[in-house]
Amino acid sequence: MSISNSEQQLIDLKPTSHRKIIELVEEAGIDVSDWPNFKGGTEKAASNPKYCYEWSFENKKENIIVLNLWFDNCELENDTIIQKLNMRAESEEFTGIRIRRAINMDFSLQRAARLKSPVRVIMCDENPKEKLKEGKSTADKRNLDSVDWYVKEYDEEGNCVLQRGELAAPYIDQFILRDLEVNPSEKHESTSFVYPRSKAVRDEVLLRAKGNCEHCGEEGFRTNAGAFYLESHHIVPLSEEGIDHISNVIALCPNHHREAHYSENSNELRKLFLEKVSS
Ligand SMILES: [Zn+2]
Ligand SMILES: [Zn+2]
Repeated sequence: MSISNSEQQLIDLKPTSHRKIIELVEEAGIDVSDWPNFKGGTEKAASNPKYCYEWSFENKKENIIVLNLWFDNCELENDTIIQKLNMRAESEEFTGIRIRRAINMDFSLQRAARLKSPVRVIMCDENPKEKLKEGKSTADKRNLDSVDWYVKEYDEEGNCVLQRGELAAPYIDQFILRDLEVNPSEKHESTSFVYPRSKAVRDEVLLRAKGNCEHCGEEGFRTNAGAFYLESHHIVPLSEEGIDHISNVIALCPNHHREAHYSENSNELRKLFLEKVSS
């Protein structure tokens, strides 16, 4: 029986090394200069109890978030490796210092969700012998995952889905779709001249539209990857020296995009669109 790519990735994710937390968080970009500041000093820095048992670490200045996750909690969903967790709910079942650790981890998840920040993951595996001891969980093996994770979902109850790898763009237009569809090896040089257009500008317009046609307000259809589809349109065409700027780009449903180009009303639409995007 053959296994899929994602199944293989999951197998490869299982930690195999006995590395220390301090090494892994430092590698991820967390400042560990305070770890030796306790009675154990530099020699025992790695086991400073103030830090070494934490589940989440942050470097707020550089927006780095590092989380400890259990390998056993990984799941495969649509060929993607995910973890579902609710640290807020878990914190209510814990006692003592673990309550604060869980709450800190929940804060980190909220922050990552809000800022759409990448999350570095230290994948942990339990010592099989320790597993037998009730209520105790000591990581035996750890790896720092080289792939960034992202918060895919976070709801008001604290239910969180973390995804390994980049999230699909929530909003896409005809150019992104074309890039996604065409296999690079099949891409052929276009013979007609195409004006260069900034993806950053189009992305900003798509974000402004939030998935709704900026003319009629109708929601764009959902693609099979779950993104909202709208077409980005230069109101004054680049060929007429229109500028490649959000004040000249509008996100339209496919119907209104065709209309903007080919309808007898296209001049009026142009005026209307310019007013709309300037407000
Ligand atoms: Zn429309
Ligand atoms: Zn257009």
